[in-house]
Amino acid sequence: MCKPLIAGNWKMHGTTESATNLAAQLARHRTQEANEKEGAEIIVFPPFVHIPSVVAATANSNISVGAQDCSQYPDGAYTGEISVEMLLDQGCQYVLVGHSERRAVIGEGNQMVAEKFKAAQAGGLIPILCVGESLQQRQQGTTVAVVAEQIAAVIDLVGLADVCRAVIAYEPVWAIGTGETASPQQAQDVHSAIRAQLGEAGSSTTLLYGGSVNASNAAELFAQPDINGGLVGGASLKADEFLNIAKSIEA
Ligand code: PEP
Repeated sequence: MCKPLIAGNWKMHGTTESATNLAAQLARHRTQEANEKEGAEIIVFPPFVHIPSVVAATANSNISVGAQDCSQYPDGAYTGEISVEMLLDQGCQYVLVGHSERRAVIGEGNQMVAEKFKAAQAGGLIPILCVGESLQQRQQGTTVAVVAEQIAAVIDLVGLADVCRAVIAYEPVWAIGTGETASPQQAQDVHSAIRAQLGEAGSSTTLLYGGSVNASNAAELFAQPDINGGLVGGASLKADEFLNIAKSIEA
């Protein structure tokens, strides 16, 4: 069975105080019992500098903490980079790799994303591999091919079995931060193509949808057969809204 997950990407927002408060509000509602009743695991992805305070604020809850990126290198002269070992040392369990903002703004390509995925998994973090097409690619009808190529680059480097034990988030670029969401059917069509690409080995791989998810549209998206949860940006910065999104995932 696919493990239901709800992930909050806080992007480059917040101060130590606001990040700690948000984490504490979530933690108050997410005890062990709530997770068992409500099913979905919650993971938050604060900016690097807020990870220690968020780990401390969620220590007595069932909320996991991840990082928004990691270096593909283990250590050395890579100014400004953060290694997998450093993230583990700070209490992270997950890491996003290949978020579309890093692909588009920082210029990360499929090969670099694959190397980051490999480093994360080899080091003991669970990577959430983000994939998705641009508006132009959707209009050209190449959505499934683009997503398949992004996933294939990782399979080529680490093998199918290792990709299947990670998490994949399908996030159409045109839906991220725009208020425009893929319809449940559009999202399901791509999730089903991803599931087919992974084959039997991916029958229990958790597949997330991301792109302007909010408390009003989450239930319909998460009711799709191949969608096992969400990667949420803007709406994850409001504790109540984020908790309501998490509640709409069927256990
Ligand atoms: C994201 O950052 O991955 C995301 C999906 O953002 P938003 O929910 O704001 O579209």
